[in-house]
Formats: sequence, C-alpha cells, structure tokens
Amino acid sequence: MQTTIDYRALEDRHASGVYAKRPLTIVQGSGATLWDETGRAYIDCAAGHGVANVGHCHPQVVAAIQEQAATLITCQEALYNDQRALLLDELSARLPVGLDRLFLCNSGTEAVEAAIKVARASTGRTQILAAMRGFHGRTLGALSATWEQHYRAPFQPLVPDFAHVPYNNIDALDTAITGETAAVLLEVIQGEGGVRPGSDEFLRGAQRLCRERGALLLIDEVQTGFGRTGRWWACEHLDLEPDVLILAKSIAGGVPMGAIAIGPRGGALAVGTHGSTFGGNPLACAAARATLSVLQTEQLPEQAASKGAWLLTQLRNLPSRRIREVRGCGLMIGIELRERAAPYLQALQERGVLALPAGPTVIRLLPPLVISSEQLAAVVAALDEVLQ
Ligand SMILES: *Cc1c(COP(=O)(O)O)cnc(C)c1O
Repeated sequence: MQTTIDYRALEDRHASGVYAKRPLTIVQGSGATLWDETGRAYIDCAAGHGVANVGHCHPQVVAAIQEQAATLITCQEALYNDQRALLLDELSARLPVGLDRLFLCNSGTEAVEAAIKVARASTGRTQILAAMRGFHGRTLGALSATWEQHYRAPFQPLVPDFAHVPYNNIDALDTAITGETAAVLLEVIQGEGGVRPGSDEFLRGAQRLCRERGALLLIDEVQTGFGRTGRWWACEHLDLEPDVLILAKSIAGGVPMGAIAIGPRGGALAVGTHGSTFGGNPLACAAARATLSVLQTEQLPEQAASKGAWLLTQLRNLPSRRIREVRGCGLMIGIELRERAAPYLQALQERGVLALPAGPTVIRLLPPLVISSEQLAAVVAALDEVLQ
C-alpha cells in the first residue's frame, strides 16, 4: 500500500510541538496489533499509554459506539440519560464497596482535579500531599501534585499548599501529615515514575494516618485500573479502602473519559461547585458500559494476572547484563536498565514491538490485556535480542 500524503510532515508543520514524536504513522488497530500506513504490523505493548486494555477496536465496543452514535451523542448532565444511569449503576457495582458516588469527566487529569476539589471542599483544609516520582496529570492542579520538575518548572507558580513526600517512606509521611492536610494522593504502582510498586506498609500506613488525622486518601488508578495489574483495581491487592478512587485511561475502551468514585468519608460536592460540558456524555458512557462488559466476560483481569506472571518470569530469566531489575504486577511491567532506554525502544520498534519509556532508564510494557501468548513470546524474543 503506497500513500501519497506525508502525514508526518503535516503533523510536524501544524502541531504544537509538545510531543517527542517517533517517526511512525499508525492507521489501524485490532486486539494487540497495530498497523502503520505501509501495512506493517506491530505488537502493541503501549496500548496508547494504557488506554486499550480490552484491545484496539474490540467488536463489542465498536458496536456500542456505532449504535449510540446513531442514537444520541450529547446530553448535558442537567438532564438524565439512559446510558449514563446504566453506567453509573454498573460501574459502582464493580468498585470496592462504599465507592458509590461518581463524577464523570473526560481525562485522567480532570479526574485528579475533581478529587482535589472533593478533598478541599469536604475537609475545609487545603494541603495536598503527593509522592516524589508521582504522576497525576498536567493541568495546573494535577500538575501541582505531579513530581517531575521538567513538567512543572515552566509553569510556576503552581497551586499553593501541595507538598511531596518520598514514596514508600511511611515515617516521612507520618511527619508530613498534619491537621492542615486535606488529602494524601498516591498511585498504588507509580507508572510514569518508573513502574514502582507501593509497599503494603506504606499504602496501608497512609490509609491509617489519613483516618487518624482527618485527611482523605485519594488513590490514582488512572493507569492501574480496569484489570491492568491482574485485579480489577490495584488497591484490591492490598485491601485498600480509598476515600476517592481516580479513574480514566482504559475506562471507555479508548474513548476519552475519566471518573472519580467517592466513598463515605469523601462527602459530596455541593450543587454548582463543579461540572463538565462533555462529562457523562452518552457516547462515552455507552463505550464504557461495553468495556466493563468485555472485561467481565473475557475475564481480562484474571488474564492479566496469568499472562503477567508468565511474562515477569521470562523477563527475569533474560541473560542480559544491561538489565538492573524487572518489576511490576499483572501486565504493567518495568524493565530497568543500567543505561538509557530510548535506543532499545527504537530497536524494539524496528523488530515490530512498540513499548514505552517510564523515566530515562525504564522500558515499560503495558500491552492490551487481550494480547495472545504467541505475541507475548515474540515480545520476549525481541527483548532478548535487543538487550543482548
Ligand atoms: C495518565 C495518567 C494521568 C493523567 O491522565 P490524562 O488522561 O493524560 O490526563 C493521571 N494519573 C496517572 C497515574 C496516569 O497514569
């Protein structure tokens, strides 16, 4: 297939320039496979940064979108809607008990903003504690909780009363939480920060300290949710009971959507204090309902657990001196190298495997949970070859 249009030149000419681009144009996807404009296939271990948990263009999600697009695309939240009502019911039935008040928005960073607002409004306090190496998005409120200086520096001053504590250091958190703390905002496994799992002691300790001192525990599962780590929610591995659970990425099979689920300690947002024009639109709600149904019927969280365990073992057995550590949970895996990851990501792409970085030295694998065992074996073979 020969194309006459130079898509890369068009994007380069007109796009803002904020993205470091790879010279690859993707035009089609199915399951864990993507195709470029020349028809070359790639095994997708990026899933749009962890968006495509049910795979690209899952037929059930496609059908739901097609049907809803022909029925009703937009409907403001001041009116009731059938798809929204059913999604709220079906999603809350899936969430850890007590998290049954939902606010719908359109992205992860918006969901984080909503969670911060819930914390400040319901506690009457202002301080938000987040973790070093944490990532929570790029709008100014969420960015104030994000750690990476490269993302923050050009935009100072950020929102006041945010502070960062070392991740997995419960004593530092104990010192930092005071009577002024509205909330502690944490990932269960830090994704962008290098695929770093939180310890039981730290996360459960954070929950205990929040309860003792009247702060809310906001758990950001934008990347770890919807089966990614081998359970529906990563907080289930530790029996965590967040006061607010933050969701996005895979929630609607690739259609933009975010959500927060608020538990009994979270209180509610008063009428008119928050909102979103696109939030809870019927198209995204229908896509999310289909996505939940696919995760359930195809037992994708269980698949992520078994495929991830196999992959982790294979990767830990790779005889490469370049690997410092392999870590992760389910199909969220980080391979920390002793050198920069970028050349290896490029080498993997040349062998037909798309992976992600997570910081300068970590190769991150976030494949669709539907990835086949043949594809996983091919990924291991490609990594073995490039990391020799
Ligand atoms: C991706 C991500 C976000 C931000 O989501 P966007 O949809 O890009 O705004 C927030 N938190 C975590 C943990 C993420 O991985």
